[in-house]
Amino acid sequence: MEYLARDDPELARIICAEENRIESTLDLIAAENHPPPSVLEVLGSVLTTKTIEGYPHRRFHAGCIQADAVETLAVERAQALFGAEHANVQPHSGTAANFAVYFSVLDPGDRVLAMSLPHGGHLSHGHAASISSRCFAFAHYPVDEKTERIDYDTVRELAERHRPKMIVAGASAYPRLIDYERMAQIAREMNAYLMVDMAHIAGLVAAGVIQSPVPFSDFVTFTCYKTMMGGRGGVVLSRKPLADRLDRAVFPGSQGTSPVNVMAAKALAFRLAGTKTFFRIQHQTVANAQRLAAGLSDAGYRIVTGGTDNHQVIVDVGEKGITGAEAEAALETAGIAANRNAIPSDAARPGSVSGVRLGTGAAASRGMGEKEMARIVALIHSALEGRNDPARLGRVASQVRGLCDEFPVYRGSEACLMAAFD
Ligand SMILES: *Cc1c(COP(=O)(O)O)cnc(C)c1O
Repeated sequence: MEYLARDDPELARIICAEENRIESTLDLIAAENHPPPSVLEVLGSVLTTKTIEGYPHRRFHAGCIQADAVETLAVERAQALFGAEHANVQPHSGTAANFAVYFSVLDPGDRVLAMSLPHGGHLSHGHAASISSRCFAFAHYPVDEKTERIDYDTVRELAERHRPKMIVAGASAYPRLIDYERMAQIAREMNAYLMVDMAHIAGLVAAGVIQSPVPFSDFVTFTCYKTMMGGRGGVVLSRKPLADRLDRAVFPGSQGTSPVNVMAAKALAFRLAGTKTFFRIQHQTVANAQRLAAGLSDAGYRIVTGGTDNHQVIVDVGEKGITGAEAEAALETAGIAANRNAIPSDAARPGSVSGVRLGTGAAASRGMGEKEMARIVALIHSALEGRNDPARLGRVASQVRGLCDEFPVYRGSEACLMAAFD
């Protein structure tokens, strides 16, 4: 970054420090990943300078030949990768993608049934703090108190009671597979649209490691920066008859210009998702999560739902007398990035957050496997036990740095798994 170092040394230093943090931190944030360096190149390319509105060959500014090629490539690759009839790659984020879907087929005040936030849902699924709740009448389904899994009979009962025009499936914190066929059946009975928000698991779906919601859904939304390993930004897949309404809800309905560099990064992510390396990473991500869950369980931690089928492991630290915030802070001091998260039993106690959500996508991307997961279990346990002992946390931190040094992200190109996409 020669130019930046000259134009703004202060900012250059911050970015440099962030590179160091990424290399030396064990990233267990389920909503993050390490995108390959080619994604960073595309994001920083001249494509960022082009102003476009509209869709390929129907633009509102001149000079769009390359921009049209980029967007067309991203759309065609998204459709091919996920077997979707239609794709819109313009949404600025996953939240923007969800809003576009709502406004494409719903009228203000229409009823929607979605998963409740403390049970694993997302803010943009009609939480009181989200504008979505002011536009539409959301009702929420919980997970079962005992199994901590979705109870489809309960979903059906709530659907009968609320008669929603749309049902939303998909979650931010749910380590189990969702029965899309069942969800689609309930939606059909209610004459409701089914939208699946697969933001967290899109990479696992793209690799075929878990079932795809696409054949069962009217709309599927996702973000590209979680397991998908791309840049940022959202995507909506839809059935063909809904394509026009969806496209109009994105532009001009809820967005103006679209960043061409970000659409190009999406196109790249969809290409890379077809490689053997990507499959290996996604497969390893799930194996790692299962190893992590089993190891933490053996070390005496209660795992929400008892295990995992995807990249997430949700640990009930409250049961150990630790708050989610304390656990997050202790782990951060030890060089492990994770986030506190409400667990289903917190729903009855507003304000209480007694879980930590761990994700294995980033660790798998930098080449870590099950052997490393066993080491990570010991490091997490040590950090949580030593949460009030700075010396112990310091010792864990140096072990974490040692582990990270063995698995460089962007430094040391042969060692860097991400540089080796086949
Ligand atoms: C992360 C996430 C999103 C939000 O994506 P943004 O790009 O941050 O707006 C939407 N839905 C779910 C279920 C998510 O987990």
